[in-house]
Amino acid sequence: LAQLYSPLNMLGSMYRSINRSLLDAERLLQLLDHPTDINDKPDAPDLVVSDGEIVFDNVSFTYDGRKPAIRGVSFRVPKGGSVALVGESGAGKSTILRLLYRFYDLKENEGRILVDGQDIRDVTQASLRKAVGVVPQDAVLFNANIAYNIGYGKLGSSLEEVEEAAKAAQMHDRIMSFPAKYETEVGERGIRLSGGEKQRVAIARTLLKNPPILLLDEATSALDTSTERDIQKALQNLVRGRSSLSIAHRLSTIANADLILVLKDGQIIEQGNHEQLLKLNGVFAGMWADQMNAAGWLPVDGVLREGV
Ligand code: ATP
Repeated sequence: LAQLYSPLNMLGSMYRSINRSLLDAERLLQLLDHPTDINDKPDAPDLVVSDGEIVFDNVSFTYDGRKPAIRGVSFRVPKGGSVALVGESGAGKSTILRLLYRFYDLKENEGRILVDGQDIRDVTQASLRKAVGVVPQDAVLFNANIAYNIGYGKLGSSLEEVEEAAKAAQMHDRIMSFPAKYETEVGERGIRLSGGEKQRVAIARTLLKNPPILLLDEATSALDTSTERDIQKALQNLVRGRSSLSIAHRLSTIANADLILVLKDGQIIEQGNHEQLLKLNGVFAGMWADQMNAAGWLPVDGVLREGV
């Protein structure tokens, strides 16, 4: 135990000096090359989270002052609800996540984003970011042991808490197979983790952070079936009881989302749950059929059946 805690302590002061969630999310959402200059209003109060309800109220946003990245977007994520964003590249999915994390502030005439009724422009950035957990496509690992990399989600977590989070994130068994178990060094100088493993580390970290709101960016790269299954199980453990907004690339992973928003050119063009959207027989139904075909499912008499 002592061996595990000493590197944790050593790195503690280092990591306290970093704005952790900001670092994470910037990397996650690939924004490091886009520095932001958001300032809190003088005497801004902290966000007070009761339910974790999110409201986008007629939100429009442009990066360059000319081309809108999103236009007139309105939706609500109720307490503990799950909303998934789908749409082709450039449709505006990441922009919606970035705006909720307040990488950019909306101008007066660009609508409002509310968390539990509070306009996020009016509260401190630190309190907002404390309430929001981000699970990126490609989690950043520190050159430290795996326990540190998970425990980073919550300052001063005990080994028991780290293990519990790793278990819920379906990562514990894998860690126990590493040469020095939880003390195994990862990152550039240690063992390399696969994309799916890194994502589960990010899930474990976020479980420890325990935020009421989640932003998830599903991996675009194909994962093998058992990894996919582990990640889905880990995500189920994470999203339970929290309000979540996810970017989905594989439509099969969001069949249970409460609401799916289909975006095109920055606008919501269809919305509903999976079943409703299939019945609508529009853009989403077309995307679904394409993905099913690609996965070997074929339409037979108008019904999709597994190919032979
Ligand atoms: P992808 O699936 O490829 O990540 P997306 O649906 O997340 O795409 P966004 O990244 O939100 O789409 O992009 C929406 C629009 O905003 C696009 O036209 C994109 O070119 C533009 N855009 C995104 N980020 C920036 C930026 N930092 N500066 C200028 N324009 C940007």
